[in-house]
Amino acid sequence: MRGLSQRVKALKPSATVAVNARALELRRKGVDLVALTAGEPDFDTPEHVKEAARRALAQGKTKYAPPAGIPELREALAEKFRRENGLAVSPDQTLVTVGGKQALFNLFQAILDPGDEVIVLAPYWVSYPEMVRFAGGVPVEVRTLPEEGFVPDPEAVRRAITPRTKALVVNSPNNPTGAVYSREVLAALAELAVAHDLYLVSDEIYEHLIYEGEHFSPGQLAPEHAITVNGAAKAFAMTGWRIGYACGPKAVIKAMADVSSQSTTSPDTIAQWATLEALTNQEASRAFVEMAREAYRRRRDLLLEGLARLGLKAVRPSGAFYVLLDTAPFAPDEVKAAERLLEAGVAVVPGTDFAAFGHVRLSYATGEENLGKALERFARALGVPS
Ligand code: PLP
Repeated sequence: MRGLSQRVKALKPSATVAVNARALELRRKGVDLVALTAGEPDFDTPEHVKEAARRALAQGKTKYAPPAGIPELREALAEKFRRENGLAVSPDQTLVTVGGKQALFNLFQAILDPGDEVIVLAPYWVSYPEMVRFAGGVPVEVRTLPEEGFVPDPEAVRRAITPRTKALVVNSPNNPTGAVYSREVLAALAELAVAHDLYLVSDEIYEHLIYEGEHFSPGQLAPEHAITVNGAAKAFAMTGWRIGYACGPKAVIKAMADVSSQSTTSPDTIAQWATLEALTNQEASRAFVEMAREAYRRRRDLLLEGLARLGLKAVRPSGAFYVLLDTAPFAPDEVKAAERLLEAGVAVVPGTDFAAFGHVRLSYATGEENLGKALERFARALGVPS
């Protein structure tokens, strides 16, 4: 058999997807495991959204859609970005994709030439550097530090800019740190993008999951440079529906849609009609989002209190549903720590592929009972009373 491409040989499969699959597999085999691995809400998709999908099916809305999405949803997206994010965009500056992931993937394909540098703030979501490399680009890391709440220093970002820098990726609220950047920090990053003529990639998929502070879309300050990425997965518990969206300069959005037209054609049509309901039935969606946010807030507090009682160190996350746990008390490195925790019956994601060395990522998108059990097992792994 002929070999595989160099490009695909260099590709690292998603660590979070792999660890979660392993945890589910162990559970299927009957292993008693608390999984804190999943990057997805444990709630079911709200009923009004499911009903809209059933309606679309009954009406035979089951055919191909245009590559950029159905016009009704693009109109609703322009309205959403204006209303919730202060971004003045027209429907043809919006795009519907197969999850936020495809929006980012297409974007890097659309803007990068070989050797172009993209600044990513570490710890980062595992897919950014891989997607950048897959598009021929070079990810350049700027570290954020636990002692600074994992919030970036715009001056450090400025120092990383070279003549080859093409884009800067910002993700607030952040996966895996849970950090929510202030308006001032986001404004400073937007200013850098404008001053150095960089694309500002703002991944806002956790925008509705903020417990302290407020969401701010930096694209407001860099309308000609920003591509804002979002999706239905985390806000509306729609991970399996695979609907993401983006907005930005018309030429970039058109190029991203062109990439879709030669790969996926369009996102699932039924799921697009369901997402339209999620975005336009604001009363029902707001009630769902508020319910979920309050549940995550309680879980976060429960988890943080339990970790503190055990003397474990974790930076308090202000958003998303993750916390990075310092693994020094468990093992010399995060991979060994994750193994030790797995033996104690808790599945977590080692921070390695997030560039969160010495940490594991815990997801608290799971019930309070599970979190209680996980804390007992942390205690067991440490050999202390829970
Ligand atoms: N961006 C971040 C930071 C994420 O954590 C995820 C999913 O885990 C995504 C984007 C992509 O989400 P989806 O493709 O499910 O919309």
